[in-house]
Amino acid sequence: MYYVLGPCSAENEQQVMTTARAVADLAVSPSDTLIFRAGLWKPRTSPATFQGVGFLGLAWLQRVQNELHLPAATEVATPEQVRHAVQAGIAYLWVGARTAANPIAVQELADALIAEQAQRSVRGLFVKNPVNEDVNLWIGNIARLQTTAIPVMAVHRGCNHRPCWRMAYALRLQCPAVPLLLDPSHLSGDAARVPALCGKAFELGLDGLMVEVHPHPAQALSDSAQQLPLSSLLNNQLCWPTSGSATQQVAPPPSSLLWLRTIMDETDDRLWEVVEQRMAISRQIGDYKQQHAIPVLQPERFWDILSKRQQWAAEHGISPQTVEQIMSAIHDESIRHQTPSKL
Ligand code: PEP
Ligand code: MN
Repeated sequence: MYYVLGPCSAENEQQVMTTARAVADLAVSPSDTLIFRAGLWKPRTSPATFQGVGFLGLAWLQRVQNELHLPAATEVATPEQVRHAVQAGIAYLWVGARTAANPIAVQELADALIAEQAQRSVRGLFVKNPVNEDVNLWIGNIARLQTTAIPVMAVHRGCNHRPCWRMAYALRLQCPAVPLLLDPSHLSGDAARVPALCGKAFELGLDGLMVEVHPHPAQALSDSAQQLPLSSLLNNQLCWPTSGSATQQVAPPPSSLLWLRTIMDETDDRLWEVVEQRMAISRQIGDYKQQHAIPVLQPERFWDILSKRQQWAAEHGISPQTVEQIMSAIHDESIRHQTPSKL
């Protein structure tokens, strides 16, 4: 298993060293690879937020590697960053989800790695899924980076804080030889959800985790809501398969049924979110009707909606009776939401 752990961003030397020491002290099995992560050049949404310490932080990552014998990883987004990171001897590099959305940028990174002869010192490249749900682009990026002769690993980090398990499964099926890690921190954006997602990664037989940890998450300069405190490394909340633990002994190959059920559960989550959104719209329509003295029940509108859906359903192999049952149930609930006394 790969464990890539560390803060979202390197903020100062002390924060880097404190976090790296906690990571280095973790008991992992000899077959596991422990890596310290910290972003130096941060792809932030707003230019008004912390953009990373940049080149200055390379020396801190070198300290982690030299003093703690812990390989470090950082994100690279431009050929110049590749050159500096390679020349500083950083052991692992990763391509972030925003850069991964641009194949020209990824090609430039691959070209820079080749020009720097990075395969001599870089032990691995991690490539996140693109921010948009496009498994073919992810696979294309892996192929571009594989031309560097450096081992490439994929990191699933979801899209817009949704798991997008379907995309991870497609990658697993199409690139079975590429190790696949989970980044539950960016996938969820929520530290409280990270431990359960780590468990899911084990259940699905993934090959590792990239998790954000910080000495004081609440004060982190980026991604403060999703970083785990260092105490989570000490009391095993990340569900390491440490010696003697149950997780190590139970390791059947994950079945396609497990993946398909995971994808189905996510689909159901979306379905119910949409039902909830529909009810919120219904309540707004209810307010409008009340203000304009329009009756709540409009049968002709319902029949119009229903007949359009039944036509669509017939073209998609869904029975018109099922559509009527579901639409009627949704409509009844909508009426309830438009009638404040019934809520
Ligand atoms: C990161 O790992 O710090 C990061 C920016 O991730 P992503 O590219 O997945 O958003
Ligand atoms: Mn982050």
